[in-house]
Amino acid sequence: MLLQNFVVTTDRQGREVIRMREASDGLPPARSKITSPYDLDARRGRKRNLAWNGYKLHISETCDAVAGQPGTSDALPPPNLITNVATTDASVADAAMTEPIHHDLARRGLLPAEHYLDSGYPSADLLVSSHTDFGITLITPILADTSTQAKTPGGYDRTAFTIDYHHNQATCPQGHTNANWIPGHQRGTEVITIGFSATVCRPCPDKARCTTASRRQLTIRPPSVQQAVDHARTEQATKQWQATYAHRAGVEATIAQSIKITDTRHARYHGLPKTRLEHAFKATALNLIRLYAWWTGHTLQPQHTSHLTRLQPTA
Ligand code: SF4
Repeated sequence: MLLQNFVVTTDRQGREVIRMREASDGLPPARSKITSPYDLDARRGRKRNLAWNGYKLHISETCDAVAGQPGTSDALPPPNLITNVATTDASVADAAMTEPIHHDLARRGLLPAEHYLDSGYPSADLLVSSHTDFGITLITPILADTSTQAKTPGGYDRTAFTIDYHHNQATCPQGHTNANWIPGHQRGTEVITIGFSATVCRPCPDKARCTTASRRQLTIRPPSVQQAVDHARTEQATKQWQATYAHRAGVEATIAQSIKITDTRHARYHGLPKTRLEHAFKATALNLIRLYAWWTGHTLQPQHTSHLTRLQPTA
């Protein structure tokens, strides 16, 4: 409450003072902003057009079960089951939960070989660390290159350059090599900044496709991360990858089921610990419902009857 309403600043004499927060001081970070007088753990969250106050639930489930041919012994395979639920306040970014979820799954011996995720959960570093730390391949869309060159038809984006990490050398489409190669960090992320000399860029006949500045600069990630990102971007453009990734859509039905059957959009209790426990109970209930349906040979997906068909007996 203090952070929300007050700021620490210095007065004209250079003394440190505390005063009321004004509009010009900006807002406190979302993770620290109390949004309900009844629940001090709740935070404001936003996803595309949806905004809410409270918590966020991350559901993981198996996606191996595929229905067989009706009338055969494999017509009703074992159901997909929820293997993990992670609850955070609503301000926590999805990508911040990928690694904790892997730790939770590892602790219970439930790590998958492949983890299908929506585009909010991966990062370039997670593509590599999930594989090296947990042996998991992330199947997830990686955001496209947003550089001006990548968005311009015929532009020289990063893939137009040949990178030789062993010799700290980049070669541009015109065959020139870099003037400098500077490893460093940008917002806590390890990067390598590569610069070409203005002497070769200014008279270059292809400069318009490459840069509007006097010389081209390029920022790349360390080799393992860059190669993983390049590979992922190439893969996700293929029809085969898109067909494989369609497996992830199954969890949307689970989310819909959890909303419809266990009213997951509404937290029954105040506070993160109780909400976390509530989500664990709800996931257990959904698993039991699925197992019961499987053991008793019932389907959880009743046949859809159109409005017209339902009118027929009346007619
Ligand atoms: S502008 Fe510079 S880096 Fe780009 S293609 Fe021309 S010479 Fe190479």
